[in-house]
Amino acid sequence: MRPALSVASECAPLVKTGGLADVVGALPAALQPEGWALRTLLPGYRAVLAQCDGAAPVLWLDDLFGGPARVLAVTLGGLDLLILDAPHLFDREGSPYLDASGNDWVDNDLRFAALSFVGAQIAAEGLGGWQPELVHLHDWQAALVPEYLRSYAHDVPTILTIHNIAFHGLTGYERLAAMRLDPERFTPEGFEYYGHISALKAGLMGATKLTTVSPSYARELETPAFGMGLDGVIRSRRADLSGILNGIDTAVWNPETDPMIRPFRTPRGKAANRAALCADFGLSPDVPGPLAVVVSRLSGQKGLDLLLDALPALTDRGGQLALLGAGARPLENAWLAAARDMPGVSVRIGYDEALSHRMYAGADAVLVPSRFEPCGLTQLYALRYGAVPVVAQTGGLADTVIHANDAALRRGVATGLTHAPGDAAALRHALTHLCDLYATPGIWTTLQRNAMKQPVDWTASSPQYARLYNNLTGSA
Ligand code: ADP
Repeated sequence: MRPALSVASECAPLVKTGGLADVVGALPAALQPEGWALRTLLPGYRAVLAQCDGAAPVLWLDDLFGGPARVLAVTLGGLDLLILDAPHLFDREGSPYLDASGNDWVDNDLRFAALSFVGAQIAAEGLGGWQPELVHLHDWQAALVPEYLRSYAHDVPTILTIHNIAFHGLTGYERLAAMRLDPERFTPEGFEYYGHISALKAGLMGATKLTTVSPSYARELETPAFGMGLDGVIRSRRADLSGILNGIDTAVWNPETDPMIRPFRTPRGKAANRAALCADFGLSPDVPGPLAVVVSRLSGQKGLDLLLDALPALTDRGGQLALLGAGARPLENAWLAAARDMPGVSVRIGYDEALSHRMYAGADAVLVPSRFEPCGLTQLYALRYGAVPVVAQTGGLADTVIHANDAALRRGVATGLTHAPGDAAALRHALTHLCDLYATPGIWTTLQRNAMKQPVDWTASSPQYARLYNNLTGSA
Protein backbone atom coordinates (compact mmCIF):
# COMPACT_ATOMS: atom_id res chain seq x y z
CA MET A 1 0.00 0.00 0.00
CA ARG A 2 1.20 3.49 -0.84
CA PRO A 3 0.91 6.21 1.81
CA ALA A 4 -0.94 9.49 1.25
CA LEU A 5 -2.05 12.26 3.58
CA SER A 6 -5.52 13.81 3.35
CA VAL A 7 -6.10 17.15 5.12
CA ALA A 8 -9.62 18.41 5.84
CA SER A 9 -11.75 20.32 8.32
CA GLU A 10 -14.53 17.69 8.46
CA CYS A 11 -14.74 13.92 8.21
CA ALA A 12 -17.85 11.76 8.62
CA PRO A 13 -18.87 10.20 10.88
CA LEU A 14 -16.81 12.20 13.41
CA VAL A 15 -17.69 15.73 12.39
CA LYS A 16 -19.98 16.84 9.59
CA THR A 17 -21.65 20.02 8.46
CA GLY A 18 -22.12 19.01 4.82
CA GLY A 19 -21.09 16.86 1.89
CA LEU A 20 -17.38 17.59 2.36
CA ALA A 21 -17.37 15.37 5.45
CA ASP A 22 -19.03 12.47 3.64
CA VAL A 23 -16.47 12.58 0.86
CA VAL A 24 -13.42 12.93 3.13
CA GLY A 25 -14.75 10.05 5.23
CA ALA A 26 -15.40 7.84 2.20
CA LEU A 27 -12.20 8.44 0.20
CA PRO A 28 -9.88 6.17 2.24
CA ALA A 29 -12.09 3.12 1.67
CA ALA A 30 -12.61 4.09 -1.96
CA LEU A 31 -8.87 4.35 -2.63
CA GLN A 32 -7.77 1.33 -0.65
CA PRO A 33 -8.57 -1.17 -3.44
CA GLU A 34 -6.52 1.06 -5.74
CA GLY A 35 -3.46 0.49 -3.57
CA TRP A 36 -3.47 3.77 -1.64
CA ALA A 37 -3.61 4.06 2.16
CA LEU A 38 -4.87 7.47 3.28
CA ARG A 39 -4.29 9.00 6.68
CA THR A 40 -6.62 11.89 7.37
CA LEU A 41 -5.48 14.94 9.35
CA LEU A 42 -8.40 16.64 11.14
CA PRO A 43 -8.74 19.45 13.70
CA GLY A 44 -9.21 18.21 17.25
CA TYR A 45 -12.55 19.90 17.87
CA ARG A 46 -13.97 19.16 21.31
CA ALA A 47 -16.58 16.83 19.81
CA VAL A 48 -13.93 14.95 17.82
CA LEU A 49 -11.59 14.42 20.77
CA ALA A 50 -14.52 13.06 22.77
CA GLN A 51 -14.73 10.21 20.23
CA CYS A 52 -11.00 9.47 20.19
CA ASP A 53 -10.40 7.22 23.18
CA GLY A 54 -7.00 5.59 22.98
CA ALA A 55 -5.48 8.18 20.67
CA ALA A 56 -1.70 8.30 21.07
CA PRO A 57 0.48 11.41 20.62
CA VAL A 58 2.87 11.14 17.69
CA LEU A 59 4.02 14.75 17.26
CA TRP A 60 4.50 17.66 19.67
CA LEU A 61 4.61 21.37 18.79
CA ASP A 62 5.68 23.85 21.50
CA ASP A 63 3.99 26.80 19.88
CA LEU A 64 1.43 26.42 17.14
CA PHE A 65 0.07 29.91 16.45
CA GLY A 66 -0.18 30.89 20.10
CA GLY A 67 -0.25 27.69 22.13
CA PRO A 68 1.13 24.18 22.48
CA ALA A 69 -0.27 21.42 20.27
CA ARG A 70 0.03 17.71 19.63
CA VAL A 71 -0.93 15.37 16.84
CA LEU A 72 -2.72 12.24 18.02
CA ALA A 73 -2.99 9.04 15.98
CA VAL A 74 -6.06 6.83 16.22
CA THR A 75 -7.94 4.32 14.08
CA LEU A 76 -11.71 4.66 14.19
CA GLY A 77 -14.24 2.70 12.16
CA GLY A 78 -11.61 1.86 9.55
CA LEU A 79 -10.36 5.45 9.30
CA ASP A 80 -6.68 6.09 10.01
CA LEU A 81 -6.83 9.51 11.65
CA LEU A 82 -4.36 12.14 12.75
CA ILE A 83 -6.01 14.60 15.10
CA LEU A 84 -4.54 18.07 15.61
CA ASP A 85 -5.03 18.61 19.33
CA ALA A 86 -4.54 22.37 19.78
CA PRO A 87 -6.86 23.40 22.63
CA HIS A 88 -6.38 27.14 22.12
CA LEU A 89 -7.74 26.76 18.57
CA PHE A 90 -10.22 23.90 18.63
CA ASP A 91 -11.38 23.04 22.15
CA ARG A 92 -14.65 25.01 22.08
CA GLU A 93 -18.39 24.49 22.15
CA GLY A 94 -20.05 25.17 18.83
CA SER A 95 -19.72 24.05 15.25
CA PRO A 96 -16.41 23.71 13.42
CA TYR A 97 -16.80 27.16 11.90
CA LEU A 98 -19.37 29.06 13.99
CA ASP A 99 -19.67 30.16 17.59
CA ALA A 100 -22.83 29.64 19.65
CA SER A 101 -24.49 32.74 18.18
CA GLY A 102 -23.94 31.57 14.62
CA ASN A 103 -21.06 33.89 13.71
CA ASP A 104 -17.75 32.73 12.23
CA TRP A 105 -15.12 32.20 14.93
CA VAL A 106 -13.05 35.39 14.72
CA ASP A 107 -9.83 33.36 14.46
CA ASN A 108 -10.96 30.94 11.73
CA ASP A 109 -8.08 32.21 9.59
CA LEU A 110 -5.54 31.15 12.23
CA ARG A 111 -7.32 27.92 13.14
CA PHE A 112 -7.20 26.54 9.62
CA ALA A 113 -3.84 28.08 8.78
CA ALA A 114 -2.59 26.02 11.73
CA LEU A 115 -4.17 22.88 10.25
CA SER A 116 -2.42 23.57 6.94
CA PHE A 117 0.86 24.41 8.67
CA VAL A 118 0.90 21.06 10.47
CA GLY A 119 -0.26 19.26 7.31
CA ALA A 120 2.74 20.71 5.47
CA GLN A 121 5.11 19.71 8.26
CA ILE A 122 3.88 16.11 8.25
CA ALA A 123 3.97 16.00 4.45
CA ALA A 124 7.54 17.25 4.31
CA GLU A 125 9.10 15.60 7.36
CA GLY A 126 6.97 12.49 7.72
CA LEU A 127 5.82 11.07 11.03
CA GLY A 128 7.91 8.46 12.84
CA GLY A 129 9.14 6.98 9.58
CA TRP A 130 5.77 7.26 7.81
CA GLN A 131 6.23 9.42 4.72
CA PRO A 132 3.25 10.29 2.48
CA GLU A 133 3.91 10.26 -1.26
CA LEU A 134 1.35 12.98 -1.83
CA VAL A 135 -1.06 15.26 0.04
CA HIS A 136 -4.74 15.58 -0.82
CA LEU A 137 -6.24 18.89 0.36
CA HIS A 138 -9.91 19.75 0.72
CA ASP A 139 -11.30 23.27 0.35
CA TRP A 140 -9.89 26.51 1.73
CA GLN A 141 -9.30 25.14 5.22
CA ALA A 142 -6.44 23.00 3.89
CA ALA A 143 -5.46 25.15 0.94
CA LEU A 144 -2.47 26.88 2.55
CA VAL A 145 -0.50 23.61 2.62
CA PRO A 146 1.32 24.31 -0.68
CA GLU A 147 2.28 27.75 0.65
CA TYR A 148 3.82 26.34 3.85
CA LEU A 149 5.48 23.53 1.90
CA ARG A 150 7.58 26.11 0.07
CA SER A 151 9.83 26.49 3.11
CA TYR A 152 10.85 22.81 3.01
CA ALA A 153 13.42 21.26 0.70
CA HIS A 154 11.36 18.08 0.35
CA ASP A 155 9.02 18.32 -2.63
CA VAL A 156 5.65 16.60 -2.09
CA PRO A 157 2.96 16.73 -4.80
CA THR A 158 -0.37 18.21 -3.75
CA ILE A 159 -3.93 17.86 -5.01
CA LEU A 160 -6.52 20.43 -3.99
CA THR A 161 -10.14 19.34 -4.32
CA ILE A 162 -12.64 22.19 -4.58
CA HIS A 163 -15.84 21.11 -2.87
CA ASN A 164 -17.34 24.59 -3.02
CA ILE A 165 -15.64 27.65 -4.49
CA ALA A 166 -18.00 30.00 -2.67
CA PHE A 167 -15.81 29.85 0.46
CA HIS A 168 -12.45 31.59 -0.03
CA GLY A 169 -10.94 31.73 3.45
CA LEU A 170 -10.38 35.50 3.15
CA THR A 171 -8.65 37.50 5.81
CA GLY A 172 -6.82 40.81 6.23
CA TYR A 173 -3.21 41.53 5.35
CA GLU A 174 -2.50 42.39 8.99
CA ARG A 175 -2.90 38.68 9.86
CA LEU A 176 0.05 37.74 7.68
CA ALA A 177 2.65 37.52 10.47
CA ALA A 178 0.33 35.66 12.83
CA MET A 179 -0.32 33.12 10.07
CA ARG A 180 3.44 32.80 9.47
CA LEU A 181 3.06 33.55 5.78
CA ASP A 182 5.89 34.95 3.66
CA PRO A 183 5.21 38.67 2.89
CA GLU A 184 7.05 38.26 -0.42
CA ARG A 185 4.30 35.93 -1.54
CA PHE A 186 1.57 38.52 -1.01
CA THR A 187 1.27 39.00 -4.77
CA PRO A 188 -1.30 38.14 -7.45
CA GLU A 189 0.78 35.04 -8.27
CA GLY A 190 0.64 34.01 -4.62
CA PHE A 191 -2.13 34.30 -2.05
CA GLU A 192 -3.05 37.97 -2.48
CA TYR A 193 -6.65 38.59 -3.53
CA TYR A 194 -7.70 42.22 -4.01
CA GLY A 195 -5.64 43.34 -1.03
CA HIS A 196 -6.63 40.41 1.19
CA ILE A 197 -5.13 37.02 1.99
CA SER A 198 -7.09 34.20 0.33
CA ALA A 199 -6.32 30.70 1.55
CA LEU A 200 -8.25 29.15 -1.33
CA LYS A 201 -6.35 31.17 -3.90
CA ALA A 202 -3.05 30.05 -2.37
CA GLY A 203 -4.11 26.46 -3.01
CA LEU A 204 -5.52 27.14 -6.47
CA MET A 205 -2.22 28.73 -7.48
CA GLY A 206 0.11 26.42 -5.59
CA ALA A 207 -1.31 22.89 -5.68
CA THR A 208 0.23 20.56 -8.24
CA LYS A 209 -3.19 19.45 -9.48
CA LEU A 210 -6.75 20.66 -8.90
CA THR A 211 -9.92 18.66 -8.90
CA THR A 212 -13.53 19.43 -8.30
CA VAL A 213 -16.39 17.13 -7.51
CA SER A 214 -18.16 16.90 -10.87
CA PRO A 215 -17.22 17.39 -14.53
CA SER A 216 -19.96 19.99 -15.05
CA TYR A 217 -18.82 22.09 -12.07
CA ALA A 218 -15.24 21.96 -13.42
CA ARG A 219 -16.48 23.62 -16.61
CA GLU A 220 -18.77 26.04 -14.79
CA LEU A 221 -15.91 27.25 -12.55
CA GLU A 222 -14.27 28.89 -15.55
CA THR A 223 -17.23 31.25 -15.95
CA PRO A 224 -17.83 34.49 -14.03
CA ALA A 225 -21.32 33.28 -13.08
CA PHE A 226 -19.96 30.29 -11.12
CA GLY A 227 -16.30 31.11 -10.45
CA MET A 228 -17.16 33.49 -7.58
CA GLY A 229 -14.37 35.87 -8.50
CA LEU A 230 -11.82 33.09 -9.01
CA ASP A 231 -12.81 32.14 -12.57
CA GLY A 232 -9.68 33.85 -13.95
CA VAL A 233 -7.47 31.81 -11.61
CA ILE A 234 -9.32 28.66 -12.63
CA ARG A 235 -8.90 29.46 -16.32
CA SER A 236 -5.17 29.95 -15.79
CA ARG A 237 -5.00 26.42 -14.32
CA ARG A 238 -7.40 24.79 -16.76
CA ALA A 239 -4.81 22.20 -17.84
CA ASP A 240 -4.44 20.96 -14.25
CA LEU A 241 -8.12 20.85 -13.28
CA SER A 242 -10.37 17.82 -13.62
CA GLY A 243 -13.86 16.98 -12.38
CA ILE A 244 -14.36 13.66 -10.59
CA LEU A 245 -17.85 12.85 -9.38
CA ASN A 246 -18.40 12.08 -5.72
CA GLY A 247 -19.72 8.68 -4.82
CA ILE A 248 -21.58 7.76 -1.65
CA ASP A 249 -20.77 5.11 0.92
CA THR A 250 -23.21 2.41 -0.13
CA ALA A 251 -22.45 0.36 2.97
CA VAL A 252 -23.90 3.13 5.15
CA TRP A 253 -26.54 4.19 2.63
CA ASN A 254 -28.05 0.83 1.88
CA PRO A 255 -31.87 0.61 1.98
CA GLU A 256 -31.67 -3.15 2.53
CA THR A 257 -29.58 -2.94 5.72
CA ASP A 258 -29.88 0.64 7.04
CA PRO A 259 -30.64 0.28 10.78
CA MET A 260 -32.23 3.74 10.88
CA ILE A 261 -35.12 2.81 8.56
CA ARG A 262 -37.51 -0.04 7.86
CA PRO A 263 -35.31 -1.86 5.33
CA PHE A 264 -36.60 -2.39 1.79
CA ARG A 265 -35.47 -3.81 -1.53
CA THR A 266 -38.07 -2.53 -4.00
CA PRO A 267 -40.10 0.69 -4.36
CA ARG A 268 -43.08 -1.13 -2.89
CA GLY A 269 -41.09 -1.69 0.32
CA LYS A 270 -40.96 2.06 0.89
CA ALA A 271 -44.60 2.18 2.01
CA ALA A 272 -43.95 1.55 5.72
CA ASN A 273 -41.25 4.23 5.72
CA ARG A 274 -43.58 6.65 3.97
CA ALA A 275 -46.32 6.08 6.54
CA ALA A 276 -43.86 6.54 9.41
CA LEU A 277 -42.49 9.71 7.87
CA CYS A 278 -45.97 11.18 7.41
CA ALA A 279 -46.73 10.42 11.06
CA ASP A 280 -43.45 11.94 12.16
CA PHE A 281 -44.12 15.19 10.28
CA GLY A 282 -47.87 15.32 10.98
CA LEU A 283 -48.71 14.87 7.29
CA SER A 284 -51.42 12.74 5.76
CA PRO A 285 -50.50 9.40 4.13
CA ASP A 286 -53.68 9.48 2.02
CA VAL A 287 -53.46 12.53 -0.24
CA PRO A 288 -53.39 12.16 -4.03
CA GLY A 289 -50.02 13.86 -4.60
CA PRO A 290 -46.40 12.89 -3.90
CA LEU A 291 -44.60 13.30 -0.58
CA ALA A 292 -41.57 15.45 -1.42
CA VAL A 293 -38.74 16.11 1.01
CA VAL A 294 -35.85 18.54 1.35
CA VAL A 295 -32.76 17.82 3.49
CA SER A 296 -30.48 20.79 3.21
CA ARG A 297 -28.44 23.60 4.60
CA LEU A 298 -30.64 26.68 4.41
CA SER A 299 -28.53 29.08 2.37
CA GLY A 300 -29.00 31.11 -0.79
CA GLN A 301 -27.07 28.48 -2.74
CA LYS A 302 -29.74 25.86 -2.23
CA GLY A 303 -32.57 27.80 -3.94
CA LEU A 304 -35.09 27.11 -1.18
CA ASP A 305 -36.44 30.66 -1.39
CA LEU A 306 -37.48 29.80 -4.96
CA LEU A 307 -39.14 26.66 -3.68
CA LEU A 308 -41.27 28.72 -1.29
CA ASP A 309 -42.64 30.57 -4.35
CA ALA A 310 -43.17 27.41 -6.36
CA LEU A 311 -44.69 25.29 -3.59
CA PRO A 312 -48.38 25.73 -4.56
CA ALA A 313 -47.64 23.78 -7.77
CA LEU A 314 -47.12 20.80 -5.47
CA THR A 315 -49.68 21.39 -2.72
CA ASP A 316 -52.52 22.41 -5.08
CA ARG A 317 -52.26 18.93 -6.60
CA GLY A 318 -52.46 17.21 -3.23
CA GLY A 319 -48.71 16.91 -2.83
CA GLN A 320 -46.94 17.47 0.48
CA LEU A 321 -43.53 18.68 1.58
CA ALA A 322 -41.40 17.77 4.61
CA LEU A 323 -38.28 19.89 5.09
CA LEU A 324 -35.31 19.29 7.41
CA GLY A 325 -32.74 22.05 7.43
CA ALA A 326 -30.84 24.68 9.33
CA GLY A 327 -28.86 27.75 8.43
CA ALA A 328 -29.71 31.35 7.59
CA ARG A 329 -32.19 32.72 10.16
CA PRO A 330 -34.45 34.55 7.63
CA LEU A 331 -34.86 31.36 5.59
CA GLU A 332 -35.57 29.31 8.70
CA ASN A 333 -38.27 31.81 9.65
CA ALA A 334 -39.74 31.90 6.16
CA TRP A 335 -40.04 28.12 6.15
CA LEU A 336 -41.53 28.01 9.63
CA ALA A 337 -44.12 30.56 8.46
CA ALA A 338 -44.90 28.42 5.38
CA ALA A 339 -45.44 25.40 7.61
CA ARG A 340 -47.85 27.46 9.74
CA ASP A 341 -49.76 28.89 6.79
CA MET A 342 -49.82 26.10 4.19
CA PRO A 343 -51.54 22.77 4.76
CA GLY A 344 -49.35 19.92 3.59
CA VAL A 345 -46.08 21.63 4.51
CA SER A 346 -44.15 20.53 7.58
CA VAL A 347 -40.76 21.80 8.70
CA ARG A 348 -38.10 20.66 11.14
CA ILE A 349 -35.33 23.15 11.84
CA GLY A 350 -32.13 21.46 12.96
CA TYR A 351 -29.54 18.90 11.97
CA ASP A 352 -30.54 15.26 12.37
CA GLU A 353 -28.64 12.51 10.58
CA ALA A 354 -31.03 9.67 11.57
CA LEU A 355 -34.09 11.65 10.50
CA SER A 356 -32.41 12.37 7.15
CA HIS A 357 -32.16 8.60 6.52
CA ARG A 358 -35.84 8.16 7.35
CA MET A 359 -36.72 11.01 5.00
CA TYR A 360 -34.90 9.55 1.99
CA ALA A 361 -36.47 6.17 2.77
CA GLY A 362 -40.03 7.49 3.09
CA ALA A 363 -40.04 10.16 0.38
CA ASP A 364 -41.59 9.85 -3.05
CA ALA A 365 -39.36 12.67 -4.29
CA VAL A 366 -36.36 14.69 -3.07
CA LEU A 367 -36.15 18.32 -4.18
CA VAL A 368 -32.76 19.97 -4.81
CA PRO A 369 -33.40 23.35 -6.51
CA SER A 370 -29.84 24.68 -6.03
CA ARG A 371 -28.62 27.80 -7.83
CA PHE A 372 -25.26 26.03 -8.11
CA GLU A 373 -24.19 22.64 -6.82
CA PRO A 374 -20.58 21.37 -7.02
CA CYS A 375 -21.74 17.76 -6.77
CA GLY A 376 -24.56 17.35 -4.31
CA LEU A 377 -25.02 14.17 -2.31
CA THR A 378 -28.69 14.36 -1.40
CA GLN A 379 -29.80 13.43 -4.93
CA LEU A 380 -27.50 10.38 -4.75
CA TYR A 381 -29.06 9.21 -1.48
CA ALA A 382 -32.46 9.85 -3.08
CA LEU A 383 -31.62 7.65 -6.08
CA ARG A 384 -30.39 4.85 -3.85
CA TYR A 385 -33.52 5.00 -1.67
CA GLY A 386 -35.97 5.08 -4.58
CA ALA A 387 -37.01 8.70 -4.04
CA VAL A 388 -37.21 10.46 -7.39
CA PRO A 389 -34.82 13.45 -7.45
CA VAL A 390 -36.14 16.75 -8.82
CA VAL A 391 -33.03 18.86 -9.31
CA ALA A 392 -31.70 22.02 -10.89
CA GLN A 393 -29.75 21.37 -14.09
CA THR A 394 -26.38 22.51 -12.74
CA GLY A 395 -23.03 21.07 -11.59
CA GLY A 396 -23.11 17.57 -10.20
CA LEU A 397 -26.91 17.54 -10.19
CA ALA A 398 -26.84 17.72 -13.99
CA ASP A 399 -24.23 14.94 -14.08
CA THR A 400 -26.16 12.47 -11.92
CA VAL A 401 -29.86 12.78 -12.76
CA ILE A 402 -31.31 11.75 -16.13
CA HIS A 403 -34.36 13.84 -16.94
CA ALA A 404 -37.59 11.94 -17.57
CA ASN A 405 -38.39 13.25 -21.02
CA ASP A 406 -40.26 10.98 -23.44
CA ALA A 407 -37.10 9.60 -25.04
CA ALA A 408 -35.40 8.79 -21.72
CA LEU A 409 -38.59 7.19 -20.42
CA ARG A 410 -38.92 5.10 -23.59
CA ARG A 411 -35.28 3.96 -23.37
CA GLY A 412 -35.72 3.12 -19.69
CA VAL A 413 -32.92 5.36 -18.46
CA ALA A 414 -34.81 8.23 -16.82
CA THR A 415 -34.10 8.62 -13.10
CA GLY A 416 -35.59 11.99 -12.15
CA LEU A 417 -36.53 15.48 -13.25
CA THR A 418 -34.28 18.44 -14.01
CA HIS A 419 -35.16 22.13 -14.40
CA ALA A 420 -33.35 25.38 -15.13
CA PRO A 421 -31.49 26.65 -12.04
CA GLY A 422 -32.41 29.89 -10.27
CA ASP A 423 -35.83 30.11 -11.87
CA ALA A 424 -39.03 29.76 -9.82
CA ALA A 425 -41.20 29.31 -12.93
CA ALA A 426 -39.04 26.40 -14.12
CA LEU A 427 -39.25 24.86 -10.67
CA ARG A 428 -43.03 25.28 -10.63
CA HIS A 429 -43.18 23.51 -13.98
CA ALA A 430 -40.99 20.67 -12.64
CA LEU A 431 -43.30 20.22 -9.64
CA THR A 432 -46.30 20.01 -11.96
CA HIS A 433 -44.44 17.45 -14.07
CA LEU A 434 -43.64 15.51 -10.88
CA CYS A 435 -47.33 15.39 -9.94
CA ASP A 436 -48.21 14.21 -13.47
CA LEU A 437 -45.69 11.38 -13.37
CA TYR A 438 -46.72 10.40 -9.86
CA ALA A 439 -50.29 10.05 -11.09
CA THR A 440 -49.18 7.56 -13.76
CA PRO A 441 -48.42 4.42 -11.72
CA GLY A 442 -46.58 2.38 -14.40
CA ILE A 443 -44.23 5.19 -15.25
CA TRP A 444 -43.73 6.21 -11.64
CA THR A 445 -42.63 2.78 -10.46
CA THR A 446 -40.29 2.45 -13.45
CA LEU A 447 -38.70 5.77 -12.55
CA GLN A 448 -38.17 4.62 -8.98
CA ARG A 449 -36.68 1.32 -10.14
CA ASN A 450 -34.33 3.08 -12.57
CA ALA A 451 -33.27 5.41 -9.77
CA MET A 452 -32.48 2.55 -7.41
CA LYS A 453 -30.43 0.80 -10.11
CA GLN A 454 -28.25 3.80 -10.96
CA PRO A 455 -24.67 3.30 -9.71
CA VAL A 456 -23.92 5.94 -7.08
CA ASP A 457 -20.95 4.36 -5.29
CA TRP A 458 -17.25 5.04 -5.85
CA THR A 459 -16.72 2.35 -8.50
CA ALA A 460 -16.38 4.83 -11.35
CA SER A 461 -14.55 7.57 -9.45
CA SER A 462 -11.95 5.71 -7.37
CA PRO A 463 -9.89 4.71 -10.42
CA GLN A 464 -9.94 8.33 -11.61
CA TYR A 465 -8.47 9.54 -8.32
CA ALA A 466 -6.01 6.64 -8.36
CA ARG A 467 -4.88 7.57 -11.86
CA LEU A 468 -4.27 11.13 -10.71
CA TYR A 469 -2.36 9.93 -7.63
CA ASN A 470 -0.30 7.53 -9.74
CA ASN A 471 0.49 10.11 -12.40
CA LEU A 472 1.61 12.61 -9.80
CA THR A 473 3.91 10.21 -8.03
CA GLY A 474 5.35 8.82 -11.22
CA SER A 475 4.20 5.24 -11.03
CA ALA A 476 2.19 2.89 -13.21
P1 ADP B 1 -23.57 20.71 0.98
O1 ADP B 1 -22.27 20.02 1.23
O2 ADP B 1 -23.48 21.90 0.09
O3 ADP B 1 -24.32 21.01 2.23
P2 ADP B 1 -24.38 18.13 -0.21
O4 ADP B 1 -25.63 17.71 -0.90
O5 ADP B 1 -23.09 17.85 -0.92
O6 ADP B 1 -24.53 19.68 0.16
O7 ADP B 1 -24.27 17.40 1.21
C1 ADP B 1 -25.17 17.65 2.23
C2 ADP B 1 -25.05 16.52 3.24
O8 ADP B 1 -25.49 16.99 4.50
C3 ADP B 1 -25.91 15.33 2.92
O9 ADP B 1 -25.30 14.19 3.48
C4 ADP B 1 -27.24 15.68 3.64
O10 ADP B 1 -28.01 14.53 3.90
C5 ADP B 1 -26.69 16.31 4.89
N1 ADP B 1 -27.57 17.31 5.52
C6 ADP B 1 -27.77 18.59 5.14
N2 ADP B 1 -28.59 19.23 6.00
C7 ADP B 1 -28.92 18.32 6.94
C8 ADP B 1 -29.76 18.36 8.12
N3 ADP B 1 -30.39 19.47 8.47
N4 ADP B 1 -29.87 17.23 8.86
C9 ADP B 1 -29.21 16.09 8.49
N5 ADP B 1 -28.42 16.00 7.41
C10 ADP B 1 -28.27 17.09 6.64
